[in-house]
Amino acid sequence: MFMKSILVTIVFIISVNSFTTTTSASNWKQQHGEITHQEHLRGSITPERAWWNLTHYHLELKVEPNSKMFSGTNTMTYQVLAKGQRLQIELQAPMKLEKVIQNGKKLKVEQDGYSYFITPDTKQNIGSNQTLTMHFSGKPTTAKRAPWDGGITWEKDSNGVDFIASSNQGIGSSIWWPNKDHPSDEPDNGVLMSIEVPDHLMDISNGRLIKTEHNKTAKTKTFHWQVVNPINNYSVNINIGDYVHFGEKYQGEKGQLDMDYYVLRENLDKAKKQFKDAKRTIEAFEFWFGPYPFYEDSYKLVEAPYLGMEHQSSVTYGNGYQNGYLGRDRSQAGPGMLFDFIIVHESGHEWFANSITNNDVADMWIHESFTNYSESLFLEFHYGKEKAFEYIRGQRMNIQNQAPIIGQYNASRGGSGDMYDKGGNMIHTLRQIIDNDVTWRDILRGLNKDFYHKNVDTKDIEDYISNKAGRDFSKIFDQYLRDIRIPSFEYFIKDKVMKIRWGNVIEGFDMPLRVYINGKVQWLSPTTSWTEIDLVDADPTVKVDANFYISAQSVLGN
Ligand SMILES: [Zn+2]
Repeated sequence: MFMKSILVTIVFIISVNSFTTTTSASNWKQQHGEITHQEHLRGSITPERAWWNLTHYHLELKVEPNSKMFSGTNTMTYQVLAKGQRLQIELQAPMKLEKVIQNGKKLKVEQDGYSYFITPDTKQNIGSNQTLTMHFSGKPTTAKRAPWDGGITWEKDSNGVDFIASSNQGIGSSIWWPNKDHPSDEPDNGVLMSIEVPDHLMDISNGRLIKTEHNKTAKTKTFHWQVVNPINNYSVNINIGDYVHFGEKYQGEKGQLDMDYYVLRENLDKAKKQFKDAKRTIEAFEFWFGPYPFYEDSYKLVEAPYLGMEHQSSVTYGNGYQNGYLGRDRSQAGPGMLFDFIIVHESGHEWFANSITNNDVADMWIHESFTNYSESLFLEFHYGKEKAFEYIRGQRMNIQNQAPIIGQYNASRGGSGDMYDKGGNMIHTLRQIIDNDVTWRDILRGLNKDFYHKNVDTKDIEDYISNKAGRDFSKIFDQYLRDIRIPSFEYFIKDKVMKIRWGNVIEGFDMPLRVYINGKVQWLSPTTSWTEIDLVDADPTVKVDANFYISAQSVLGN
């Protein structure tokens, strides 16, 4: 998804300071305040979650737009990994978990906040597969500012027809359906969604439409969407409206990719033009990251009544059929208007977020930093390095440096909004140090090959990049991900000697730096103590390569 603070920063430039202060104060509290009991239940791998592995969901849901009622079942299949007593699932009020059935028997259910603990009635043999069905109903929370607060958006199109969608990153998919609401466990064999809506509407969900049933008596249609790959639970989504379809085929690295587009009837012409960026996106990202990760489930862009979200194989779009981010260049450098931000950014998440997924949302930089960087890689592929680098540098003005990028673990707390632009600039800085485009691309493709459809921790990504680059980047990751200070390159020149060091850094920070001395490139290896370099000329000009995200100062002012 995309951070709201940035939108607000751009829209309300005048009030940016007061907004920033409030936001960071609440961010700080949210990041560092005491972990509540509910946050612990939601954000950690409790014993009640650890003994079973999700293998499949079949979500059957009836949506009644007039009463805003949801009702249905989720049939969950899981594999028993170890001896366990109770299973934990989540469903947030006002949605109600009515009953849970296994092998024809109603199971004991205990509620703790919005977590539920279910006690199976039959022996759960290790290695066996078990199925239970959760019955639920209620009027789910309405999103006020989708996709940032999450819930259900109830809108109408310009013809007055219902236009409804779910979005729930952050708040959790348990805001509208019962499930194991933790990112570390995805259903290995995917999900089947059977969504029943009034028969003049259509539901678009993840994966492929395998069947549509028309109940003429009830005047409803049920759309069955199948996902065969593992899927993030926050990706599972419904989009209901007066949709029309068009599509194309793309010959990609893994064969033919079906690219399908669902838009409101009134926007078909605009979409046919604007969605040309979809193919350009897949082309660029297959080059940088390797094959699109969900060929079996197809690629889709689906119009939604909010800005957009990386729903797996069902990327939602609400950027107004225009380039930039709602028509603006987030970098203010120019290149941001060369593409549709939502198509590129949200599709980038298919690789980083949907295929490679964090185990804990504290590590969400793995999703957002790489996807932020993917925007510049799109530019580099289609328009060259100069525009791409201008774009990534231009985004630095969005960085706040007020809270670390990594959040608090086991509490369902993401890090600061700097996971976007600062994270992207950290990745760009790493690329400068690696200084080899072939190795760089191999690392990006390697990450997507070795962690294909896997859940990872920050350490997995750090170690992978360090190993492949043949250099220990741990201090650099510590500096940019776990500290808020920006390294300051400090130097002075006297009598053909240059003294250099890193200031404003963690202990042991050891990042090499490319500088231009009298226009000639030179690599320096500053440490946290002053070291000396002999110079050829007495009073040279010193210019630090602008692609490193650091500050530089001549301590003598020369
Ligand atoms: Zn994002």
